[in-house]
Amino acid sequence: MNSWFTELQTKDMALSCRVTEILHQEKTPYQELAVYNTVPFGRMLVLDDIIQTTIVDEFVYHEMIVHVSLCTHPAPRRVLVIGGGDGGTIREVVKHQEVEKTTLVEIDGRVIEAARKFLPEISCGLTDPRVEIIVDDGISHVEKNKNAYEVIIIDSTDPIGAATGLFEAAFYQNIAEALTEDGLFVAQTESPFFNRDLIRRVNREVAEIFPLARLYLANIPSYPGGLWTFTLGSKKYDPLKVNKRILASLNTKYYSLEVHKAAFTLPLFVAALTK
Ligand code: SAM
Repeated sequence: MNSWFTELQTKDMALSCRVTEILHQEKTPYQELAVYNTVPFGRMLVLDDIIQTTIVDEFVYHEMIVHVSLCTHPAPRRVLVIGGGDGGTIREVVKHQEVEKTTLVEIDGRVIEAARKFLPEISCGLTDPRVEIIVDDGISHVEKNKNAYEVIIIDSTDPIGAATGLFEAAFYQNIAEALTEDGLFVAQTESPFFNRDLIRRVNREVAEIFPLARLYLANIPSYPGGLWTFTLGSKKYDPLKVNKRILASLNTKYYSLEVHKAAFTLPLFVAALTK
C-alpha cells in the first residue's frame, strides 16, 4: 500500500505521512475513528482526521500530562482522567503506587475498544485493578462529583464538538469543586504558535479560579507546530516544588526531575500568554 494521510493542522497548514496499512475505520456516534499504520509515527489513532496519539511520540504527551501533576501532589489517592480513551494517560497514572483508584471518563466507548485492539502498548494500563472506566460526558461527571479527587487530568481532543465545553470557565469552576481542598488539575491546552488566544483565555480563567495557575511545555512532533502547552491549576501545591521521592521510582522515557523543572521555563513569547 502506498497512500498518504493528511491532517489539516490549521486551515492553512497540513502534516502528511505515508500510510502502510489502514487497520481500522468506523463512524462512532461521536466521531470518525481511524487507526493507520504509518512510516514516520507507527500506528496512529485519528479522530475526525486529527491525530490523537502515535506509537512513536505518545510517551512524551502521556508522561508529561501525568507525572508533572502526580509528582506535585504529595498524596494523589484518587485521580480522574477526562477523555484519554486510548489509555496512555491511565498507563502513566497507575505507575504511581500511592494512587488507590483512578477513574477514566471517556465519552466515546469505541475509542477505548479500538485502543485495546490496535494500540495495546498504550492501552495496557486499563487492565490495572485500580482503574474504573465510565463511558460518559466528562462535563456532567464533574458536575455530579464534589470534593472527590486529589488530581484531575483533562486529556481531551481539540476544542471542537464534544470537547468544546472542556475548555470553558464554567467547566474549570466545576473542576475546582470536584477536587479536594488541596487538589490540582492539568489540561492539554494546544499549540503556543497556533492557539494563542485559547491559551491566554484558559490561563486567565484558571488563574481567576485557582490560587496557582502555571503553563508548561513539551515537544510532541505529531501535534501542530511540535511544541505543546499544558495548563495546571492548583489550590495548594506548587509544581515548581516537586516530590523527589516519587520521581525516583518512575520508569519513564521523557519525564525526569530536570525535565519537570525545565518544562516551566517558558520562552518569552509563551510567557507573554500568561500575563
Ligand atoms: N492526546 C490527545 C490529543 O491531545 O489530541 C487526546 C487523546 S484522547 C483520544 C481524547 C478523547 O477525548 C477522545 O477519545 C474523545 O472521545 C474524548 N472526549 C472529547 N470530549 C469529551 C467529553 N466531553 N467527555 C469525555 N471525553 C471526551
